[in-house]
Amino acid sequence: MTAQALADYVPDRSLAAKIRRRLTRWQVAAPLSVQPRETYICFTFDDFPKSAADTGAEILDEVGAKGGYYACTGMAGTTGTMGDLFDERDLAPLTAAGHEICAHTESHIDCARTSMKDVLIDIDTNLARLREMGHTLPVTQFAWPYGETSAGLKPALTTKFEAVRGILPGVNNKGADLMQLSAYELDADEASTARAAAAIEAAARNPTWLFVFTHDVRQNGSPWGTTPDSLRRLVRLARDTGANLVTPSRAVQEILGKDPA
Ligand SMILES: [Zn+2]
Repeated sequence: MTAQALADYVPDRSLAAKIRRRLTRWQVAAPLSVQPRETYICFTFDDFPKSAADTGAEILDEVGAKGGYYACTGMAGTTGTMGDLFDERDLAPLTAAGHEICAHTESHIDCARTSMKDVLIDIDTNLARLREMGHTLPVTQFAWPYGETSAGLKPALTTKFEAVRGILPGVNNKGADLMQLSAYELDADEASTARAAAAIEAAARNPTWLFVFTHDVRQNGSPWGTTPDSLRRLVRLARDTGANLVTPSRAVQEILGKDPA
């Protein structure tokens, strides 16, 4: 799917779909087995636009934060509402700086409206394309496009990924679903920045695992992106709270007490 097609796509907004989403969220596929003892904050970028790879990474680098980039390989090299999307030249500089490349399907499919077989094929294509683009590090993280998933599909990803992010707001405490982690969206509405800031401040008082996600990082960007000023404000706030600003896989390792691979 191109960036423009993404802009035009709207997931099912019917009442039945809203109920299904709620039931799906309740059906935890892989509960987080421990309560985080410190606060971990992951700044993440979906799809992902070049502005996230350059401006976004610069803002993280200013404070030594490491982020996650969920790459939809079918969008690579395209241009749309979010500006220019990443291409293979963006991958190595990000990982060299300590950021993480994560999976996000090849075709930006709505996984709730696609057969499980086709979803798994699309994910495998995504992983194969990343390798073809020169990314040879393990890809252990995934985000559901549009946040859409199903109760049947979530368990199928437990053997593919260590952790999977959704888009529903909230923090991730013991019992959170590793196959549908909550995340605060940062979009063009200034209220989203305030909401994420409040969550970061609350997380400083109660150790937890918190994701922030956005798309492009530009002045006058897309409705799904944020401005450099808003992102910088949040990243500095997060830094000032003393939270660990790490990649998603690093957060998994530290929360679960695993040795880094
Ligand atoms: Zn996406």
